[in-house]
Amino acid sequence: MKIGVLALQGDVPEHLGAVARVVGAGHACAVRRADDLADVDALVLPGGESTTIAALLEKTGLWSALSERLARGFPVLGTCAGLILLARELEPSPGGRDPPTLKALDVRVHRNEYGSQRESFEAPVTVDGLRGAPFPGVFIRAPRIVAIGPRARILARRGEEVVGVQEGRVWGLTFHPELSGDLRLLERFVAQAQRPVSPTATTRTATAKSAPPASTAHR
Ligand code: GLN
Repeated sequence: MKIGVLALQGDVPEHLGAVARVVGAGHACAVRRADDLADVDALVLPGGESTTIAALLEKTGLWSALSERLARGFPVLGTCAGLILLARELEPSPGGRDPPTLKALDVRVHRNEYGSQRESFEAPVTVDGLRGAPFPGVFIRAPRIVAIGPRARILARRGEEVVGVQEGRVWGLTFHPELSGDLRLLERFVAQAQRPVSPTATTRTATAKSAPPASTAHR
């Protein structure tokens, strides 16, 4: 099984390091072009700057290649900017330009919600079904999940706030597990990616494309 890390911009080496620790260096690879994407069984979308990553995805032809694979149940883990790119919709940034999104996760996301004074912080995160100590959440200019639609399920919380969601084989986290040294979440993502796609999961992802926007208020 090969796990790719989108390597256009952002904290790519950290993700590649974490993936290599979970699946072995020979099974972790950088994805820069549509050809690279065809070689991997799952993909990590790193943190970084979502507008830059979106522009580079488009320029490299990876946007359409990734959209097609997502519609067929491709496992993708998006962290921070990665989550922003997977979201069904974004809350418009005040005066800012927002990236287009892949609409693979039924959530509404607000970028840079924590503002400048609290650009980065660490906080314990409770992950559904994860045994042992809380997960060490590293939040860097984090987005906030402001609404969750019916197709998404909650994966992780920081107190009352939802900081991780899943829709089928697509996961989105507002924090950075690759910077925490804790591999438990990545191990779980890889384990689910190894399981064969169920036909219902594929249909759900495909139908999600034409469904109405995320509606369940969450804030
Ligand atoms: N604020 C960034 C964005 O909107 C995301 C920050 C991150 O990935 N750490 O793209």
